[in-house]
Amino acid sequence: MTGTDPAEPTVDDAIAERLAAALRCATVSFEDPADIDLGEFDRLTEHLERSFPLVHRELTCERFGHGRLYRWDGTESANGRAAAILLAHMDVVPVDGAQGWTHPPFAGVVDEEFIWGRGAIDDKSRVLAILEAVEGALAAGIRPRRTVILAFGHDEEVFGETGAARMAERLRESGVRADLLLDEGGVITTGVADGIDVPVATIMVGEKGFATVRLTVSGVGGHSSMPGRQTAVGRLARAVARLQDRPLPLRLTPVTLDMLTRLRTFMGEPRRSLLGVARVAAPAVVRILAARPQTEALVRTTTAPTVIHGGVKANVLPQRAEAYVNFRILPGDSVQTVLAHCRRVVRDEGVTIEVVGTASEPTPDPSAGPAFDLIADIATETVPGIAVTVGLVPGATDARYYDGLADTRCNFAPIVLDSADLERIHGTDERISRANYARLITFNRLLIERLA
Ligand SMILES: [Zn+2]
Repeated sequence: MTGTDPAEPTVDDAIAERLAAALRCATVSFEDPADIDLGEFDRLTEHLERSFPLVHRELTCERFGHGRLYRWDGTESANGRAAAILLAHMDVVPVDGAQGWTHPPFAGVVDEEFIWGRGAIDDKSRVLAILEAVEGALAAGIRPRRTVILAFGHDEEVFGETGAARMAERLRESGVRADLLLDEGGVITTGVADGIDVPVATIMVGEKGFATVRLTVSGVGGHSSMPGRQTAVGRLARAVARLQDRPLPLRLTPVTLDMLTRLRTFMGEPRRSLLGVARVAAPAVVRILAARPQTEALVRTTTAPTVIHGGVKANVLPQRAEAYVNFRILPGDSVQTVLAHCRRVVRDEGVTIEVVGTASEPTPDPSAGPAFDLIADIATETVPGIAVTVGLVPGATDARYYDGLADTRCNFAPIVLDSADLERIHGTDERISRANYARLITFNRLLIERLA
């Protein structure tokens, strides 16, 4: 893909520079609030207010820390009924090893083809694209009939407890109910979906849950020359091995069945025929999906032992050993059922098993809502020739706090990425092409015009 292809959309330098300036604010989220540089968030606030004067004159904006909740009142809205709640987040993840980057991660470099920097995709491009679309609509004299709400969190990457959680609470208190809730998550991929030649837009309609379970074993210590039958390390290792060997069962959920059904016509044989009878051939379909880690995540609650430590010295018996196991929970399971599964599989009262840190439940009943087809249509208009399907976000997004505030939930952005591009998100050399940024702005503008 080149920036000089006349068929590709693009953005002018002024628009690219506004995004780049936002990327120069190092609004990095850390688990420990003391590590966060609030001055960088202040700089981003000033940049947004300076760059989008009509938005900041015509919309009301309530602040929640550095989180921003905008209301664009509709001319005909009543009883808290809103057209859409558009979510995005202004914080980014830290950079691990800036020396691997083509341009420094917070330099905000713009070239012929790309805008470079941490946050270029996740998620400042969405913040700025929404604001560009609203600013453009205001300049064109467009006023929505029905209210549009913009909610930009400042702590999504550390679970959104002071941003999204409070903004959602405020909307709930004021009785807001929207047709559409739109957040980050799915994109349009090329060369990623096995056996499909056209770009695939995965409009996520919910998310998997998240829980980290800690296993702890305490030993008596002593000299390793007289260890007894097993040490704390051995006992813990056995518990971890049991969890790894006995994952939660494979299941074809309604949302995965819907995903496959929508993609079926784009597939060759024999998959197309197999999927035609997926409801009755579920075990075969599930086995095929389970064969690769990327698709296995669609059909089970995944088990990932991620951290293990214990002991201090090779000839000293360990007094304590612990391991962390991360689960991504499929709808139908829950944090509680995962915990019960761990206790049942480990079967050892000497191992303490508990959920630690922030956990979140999966979306209760994810499915394509009434506004899904509109999003699919606008995506197809923005990027012609795509296949559109549904999916689940593998991790937690701010949208989970807003569940129940809208009839339709979608996690989606119409940007076209290949597998190398996907690795840049949270990775090295994050960047967005001018073409993709143009698509994002167009998509948001069309959404405002059609829905509001
Ligand atoms: Zn994000």
